[in-house]
This record gives sequence, structure tokens and C-alpha cells, in this order.
Amino acid sequence: MTHRVVLLFLILFFLSLPAARSQQADLDSLIDREMPRLVSTYKALHAAPELSHHEVKTSALVAQELRGLGFDVTERVGKYVTHPEWVSYGVVGVYKNGAGPTVYVRTELDALPIEEKTGLPYASTVRAKDDSGREVGVMHACGHDIHITSFLGTAKLLLELKNQWQGTLVMLAQPAEEAISGAEAMLEDGLYTRFPRPDYVIALHDTPYIAAGMVGYTPGYAMAGSTSVDVILRGVGGHGSAPQVAKDPVVEAAEFILAIQTIVSRENSPFDPAVVTVGSIHGGTRYNIIPDEVHLQLTVRTYKEEVRQHIIAALERMAQGIAAADGVPASRAPIVEASEDEYTPATYNDPQLTLRLAEVFKKALGPPNVVETPPVMSSEDFGVFGLDNHQIPICQFSLGAVDAAKLAESQRTGVPLPGLHSSLWAPVPEPTLRTGVKAMSGAVLDLMKKPGAHD
Ligand SMILES: [Zn+2]
Ligand SMILES: [Zn+2]
Repeated sequence: MTHRVVLLFLILFFLSLPAARSQQADLDSLIDREMPRLVSTYKALHAAPELSHHEVKTSALVAQELRGLGFDVTERVGKYVTHPEWVSYGVVGVYKNGAGPTVYVRTELDALPIEEKTGLPYASTVRAKDDSGREVGVMHACGHDIHITSFLGTAKLLLELKNQWQGTLVMLAQPAEEAISGAEAMLEDGLYTRFPRPDYVIALHDTPYIAAGMVGYTPGYAMAGSTSVDVILRGVGGHGSAPQVAKDPVVEAAEFILAIQTIVSRENSPFDPAVVTVGSIHGGTRYNIIPDEVHLQLTVRTYKEEVRQHIIAALERMAQGIAAADGVPASRAPIVEASEDEYTPATYNDPQLTLRLAEVFKKALGPPNVVETPPVMSSEDFGVFGLDNHQIPICQFSLGAVDAAKLAESQRTGVPLPGLHSSLWAPVPEPTLRTGVKAMSGAVLDLMKKPGAHD
């Protein structure tokens, strides 16, 4: 070999060696450059939250940013079947970058009817009317503003690094997650037929249980399915002084609430997690009137569909049984109704995809910053994007969002930190956003890496 050939060979060899490291370095320096802009985007979003079904400005901002980056953007994707009068503010941005997998990155857009009490300089003072016309404070108390900002940062970085991946990237901004209706609405509107069908759908959610700078992952079932159930116990109203000529639904409600405690404790396998909570009870108007009915609102949480079905059937059976035992006439039998609107299945993180992403995160953030986290009984509608029977591999990972020292102190003292849906929820923008962008971009780069690219 001539000297020149040897030299060329050596150069090529050394160029190929640190490919993975240089990709990480590229990503890190791009994120450094973006951080000030991301933090200000985050604060602006935080100060301007919008309620579920009203994400007008938030969705417009996301659409505009994606369009500016070169995505093919469609707005107002979604159809609320049970409320056709509502507008769906779903946004879909598609970027085709050669042959390869189709990866969806999902964010939510909505905030909550909570008056913010954090006292932060960028705290929300927004007030708005909710769907029932009631005026409420509005706050990004679930951190969806962290998600939107990470999503926009990820989109920008991925387009700058587009020579490092190939396939179709779909940025999906979903409305009305808190109302558990946005994901379903987007699918009802032909999400997977009007736009490329995904090979993977990924998302992140901030969490108060992990320090900022870290991420968590849960392979398999990660969040429970949720069903809202209305129970109307009907009696025969009358004078409070003459119970013998009435059938008192307040007493019936008391019996019912205690009786249903045995569904989970005595009828359900201890290996199948389940929760039944009565969250609201309303009946009567005055001291001396036996009311005609009492209305209860329940939430049922389960992982398995058969467990959910069993619990709903047990609620019905117990309501009817108690009414019969109390001598309530058949014409005043209880009404038990599981809501179709407020139902979401369990979130099942595809184990193979989740473990693959965990490895990516370990490389990007360092192994101590990546932890496996246990499943929870809270719910969200992200699981809907996997379709029935987990047809499409999906993964939502957790993004640590609280100061490490405060978390350690809380673990030491046992005094919990404010969590999601609290008026005091205040994720720390740095390094939460940096970690969100890094983890999400790294995940997509891995799922869409060019054939033959270095690992
Ligand atoms: Zn939430
Ligand atoms: Zn949320």
C-alpha cells in the first residue's frame, strides 16, 4: 500500500469510530443553543393555558412552529362523536424523509380548571368558562406545557439532524387529554388513514416522583384504564318525620357505599389491581325532607377489561340487591350507568419498544439517570393510540421534573411534594426541558436510524 492509501484508510477508520459519540455531541450542542428559546417558550405557554376543548391559541402556536420548520401541517384534526358541536384542535405535522419507519411523537395541548397558587413570576392568571359555563381559573397543572415545549424542541432538532435518520416523522398534538376525549376524537377523524399509519407512537409525561434530569420507564401495563360510573339510587321521597311511608335513598346510598367496598376486597383477585372510588354524592335539599333520589359519581380503575366488566356488573348487582332488600318498588329501581364518554383503556407500553428506548436513554443521560418505575392507577388516553389489542407499539416514558434536593428532602421527611393536578405544581424548567428534548430526540433518532448507521 502506498502511504496515501494507508492514510486514507486510517482517516476513514477513525471517522467511522466515534459516530455514536459525535451524534450525541451534535445533539448536546444543539440543545445548548436552543435552551434559552425553549425556556421562554415554556414560560409563555405556562402563562397562557387553555382548557380541554378550547385549545385555540396553543394549537395555533404549535401548527405555526411546525409549519415554520417545514412540516406538512393539518389543523383541527378530530371529531367529538358525542359532542359534534365541539371543535377539535388536534394538529398533525408530517415530515417525509425517505424510506423508513413512521414514528409519531405525541404531546397534549390542554390545561386544567385550577387556580394557580405557585407564585412563580410566570404563573397563570387566566380565567375562563368551562364546558358548563362556570368561570374557573386555568393552569397547566399537569405539565402539558413542558410536553409541548419538549415536542417543539424535538421537532426542531430532528429537522436539523435530518441527515441522521430516515422515515416519516409525525408530530401529533392532541387536545382534551384531561377530558379523556382528544385521542379518541383524532382517531375517529381518520388519524391513521388520512396520515401515515405509525410503526411506533411515543410520548413523555412529567412526574413529581423523579428528579429533573432523569427519566423513568415502565414496560407493559403502566397506567390503569378508567371508567366513570353514574349511580342514581331512587327512593320514595316524603317528610323527614315519617320514614315509614317513604323509601329513603340516603340510607340506601350509605348501604351501597359500604357494600361496594367488598367488590375489590372480596370479589377480585389480589393479583388484578383495581380501585373503586365514590368521588361525589349528591342528594336532598333540607333537614326534614327525604329526597326522591341520590346521585353518586364513581371512578373505576383497572388494567384488565374483564376486571372492569366484573366491577361494573357488581355495582349494578349490589345497587339492585340493596334496593330490593330495602323494599324499593321495582318502578324506582336504581340506575347504574358506565359512561361511554369518560372511558379510557389502560396504557400498555410495548415491552420491546420500552426496553429499547431505556437503552437509548441510558446512553444519552447516563445509566443512573434512567430508572424503571412501577405502574400507577392513574389514567390517560395515550393508550388509545395503540388501538385495540395493542396493535401498534406505543411507549410513554416519565420525565423527572422536580428539584433533586427537594425530592431528597421530601423522601427524608415523608412530606410529599406538590404533584400533578395540584395548584402548586411547579416543574423546574431546567434541566427538565433539556432532558425531555434529549430523551425524545434520541428516541426518534434510534427508531429511525439509517440502515447500517453506527449504534
Ligand atoms: Zn393530567
Ligand atoms: Zn397529563
